[in-house]
Amino acid sequence: MLKKFLKLLLLFVVVLIIIVLVQTWRFTAPLKQTKSVAIPSLPDSAIQHLSAAIQIPTISVSDTLPADSVALRQFRAFIEKTYPLVHQKLQRIIIDSFSYIYYWPGKNTSLQPNVLMAHQDVVPVETATEKEWKAPPFSGQITDSAIWGRGAIDDKGNLISICEAAEKLLKQGYQPQRSFYLCFGHDEELGGSMGAAKIVVWMQHHNIHPALVCDEGGFITKENFKELGRPIALLGVAEKGYASFELTVDAEGGHSSMPAKETAIDILSKALVNIRSSQMPARFTEPTNEMLQKIGPAMPFVTRMALANRWLFNPMLISKFESSNGTNATIHSTIVPTIINAGMKDNVIPSHAEAVVNSRILPGETSSDVLDFLKKTINDDRVKIKNYGGVFEPGKSAAASSDGYKKVDSLTYTLMDNLVPVPFLMIGATDSRYFRNIADVVIDFTPMLDPKGFHGIDERMSISDYQRLVYYYEKMLQQ
Ligand SMILES: [Zn+2]
Repeated sequence: MLKKFLKLLLLFVVVLIIIVLVQTWRFTAPLKQTKSVAIPSLPDSAIQHLSAAIQIPTISVSDTLPADSVALRQFRAFIEKTYPLVHQKLQRIIIDSFSYIYYWPGKNTSLQPNVLMAHQDVVPVETATEKEWKAPPFSGQITDSAIWGRGAIDDKGNLISICEAAEKLLKQGYQPQRSFYLCFGHDEELGGSMGAAKIVVWMQHHNIHPALVCDEGGFITKENFKELGRPIALLGVAEKGYASFELTVDAEGGHSSMPAKETAIDILSKALVNIRSSQMPARFTEPTNEMLQKIGPAMPFVTRMALANRWLFNPMLISKFESSNGTNATIHSTIVPTIINAGMKDNVIPSHAEAVVNSRILPGETSSDVLDFLKKTINDDRVKIKNYGGVFEPGKSAAASSDGYKKVDSLTYTLMDNLVPVPFLMIGATDSRYFRNIADVVIDFTPMLDPKGFHGIDERMSISDYQRLVYYYEKMLQQ
């Protein structure tokens, strides 16, 4: 009996191995070898322009403070002076004092227009880190290889590249086939509610439905997929949603010399520990599946085997994704405490404790799923939960089969030898999320190679990336 059982087991294992190997063998499709074009170098003036743009400190400090009108006014004057043809030939619409739409009518206005967007504002520089910068953060210092400073890659590099490309084409007397809207918000780093959100309201009011919207987001990376041995262009086709929740606990306070068994702080702490010690369920969304499907066949054997046999290796794949914060965030709706408040004196037990948790929601889930998860995980009625600030449900994602996606996809091949464009789920939020409801396709992608200093120290734009950016936008306008 036992012998028979062992024989059957052996047979089962052999069949399983054969299936796995056949599936792996069938999942082999070499990525095509591609050759880029020679990206033209930039005139000195373009380098100077980005440097000058960085020197204007258009800092978004806090959504409770008014916008820095001095810096934003200065930036507007700078654009008017530096890009005279953009200023004269395109129609400028001013939104909420400091955000702009530049309308460039195409030859065929019956075609749906496209949108190129970038934001003017930058995040502040932490005072404590200022000394660590190789060049002062608002110096716009130019070296042989890069232009340095806050905003170089996020997002003045894009904004200036769009202007450089448009100005150059206008100088040549060029007019695009379809109309373009160049949209420059001024409060992306605060959530874009004054700029991008109102730009979209204006477009809705004027019945404008863009075919394609291009914004910052994904980039080119060699560092993140080393085992592939090829540069990958991450074309952001979907964004996670955003919601925050306030947790409050009220319990008896009093003198700290005779504490109760459980205080408001204890109850809140337990709730936070519970939230952090579990995660919402793991799920591969469409963009991530498409990405794995595309690069999987070119991966080394073991990874390829796992990807070709998801029915068997999915748990392994999930734990691989969960091992890094970045990839973990692509398969989970995440929840993390960001604000905590309680107590004011060392010998008084506070009767009130509160915290805010921030959630980034996977496409396919909603803020009410997050709320349900919070209630279930905290499992304590003494913790009151309510919404905190605005909610942004995950928007629709751009299909890899759509025209807009194909347009960007085909353009990327010209940017770098053997570049592999893949759909990508954006884990952060950008201004473009407001456009997902009115546009056919939104792609978040900037052809910078492993950009450095994003929201941190030593932010800089390499000259080669800058060249590629201007070229990219020129071609976008010419499509
Ligand atoms: Zn940005």
